[in-house]
Order: sequence, then C-alpha cells, then structure tokens
Amino acid sequence: MLSNDCVFCKIIRGEIPSAKVYEDEKMLVFKDIEPKAKVHLLAVPKDHFKLLSEMNEDRAATLSYMLSVIPKVAAENGCVNGYRLVINQGDAAGQTVFHLHIHILGGENLPW
Ligand code: 5GP
Ligand code: ZN
Repeated sequence: MLSNDCVFCKIIRGEIPSAKVYEDEKMLVFKDIEPKAKVHLLAVPKDHFKLLSEMNEDRAATLSYMLSVIPKVAAENGCVNGYRLVINQGDAAGQTVFHLHIHILGGENLPW
C-alpha cells in the first residue's frame, strides 16, 4: 500500500516528477535528485514500508526480486566497472526518506 505523505509514493504515483530509468509492477528505479556519484539511482519497492525491521515474507520476496533486476539496470545506466548498493536505516545512518530504498552508486571509482 502507498502512503499519502511519502515523497517516494508520490513519485511512484507520478504526482512528483522523476527521471525514471526502470519500472515494473513491483519496483521503480529513478535518478537521485542530489547525486552523490556520477551515477546515482534509487530503487524503490512499490509497497510502502520504512525499514528493514518491517520485513515480512512478501517484502523479502520483493527485495530479492529487486536485487535480481538491479544488475541489469545498473549496467544499462553507466555502471560499467562495478557499483555500490546502500540502504540507510534510520537517523544514525542519515536516512531522510522513510520509504525503503536502495541507492545504486557508480559510474566512477568510488572514493570509499
Ligand atoms: P536516504 O538519505 O533516505 O537514504 O536517501 C534519500 C535520497 O532521496 C537522497 O539521496 C535524496 O537526494 C533523494 N531524494 C529526496 N527527495 C527526492 C525527490 O523528490 N526526487 C528524487 N529523485 N530524489 C529525492
Ligand atoms: Zn512511500
């Protein structure tokens, strides 16, 4: 289920514009608005949940599916020589959007 006041749900619904690079019935991948690497994409499940601690069997299946799609999407978007996946969890990690998402960072040799 989507949430009314979540920025990523608004992007999924098309209420906020985004540069989409991949979409299917389960997930969406779009460009981060403030890229921290030459390629910086965000992969989001269409099911709204905040944190990995809210995981259940269906969500785990969706995340597993996302991990099967991401390599192709990353390669098609300029991650030629590897990339990094990041999932920030909670305030201490600097999570700012509380709709679970996977950062895809690449397109260059990453500094750390
Ligand atoms: P977090 O810090 O929660 O792990 O990551 C949230 C990410 O979402 C940030 O990198 C931020 O730049 C990105 N972001 C926030 N709002 C928007 C938006 O409206 N559009 C896009 N494309 N990215 C967003
Ligand atoms: Zn959401």
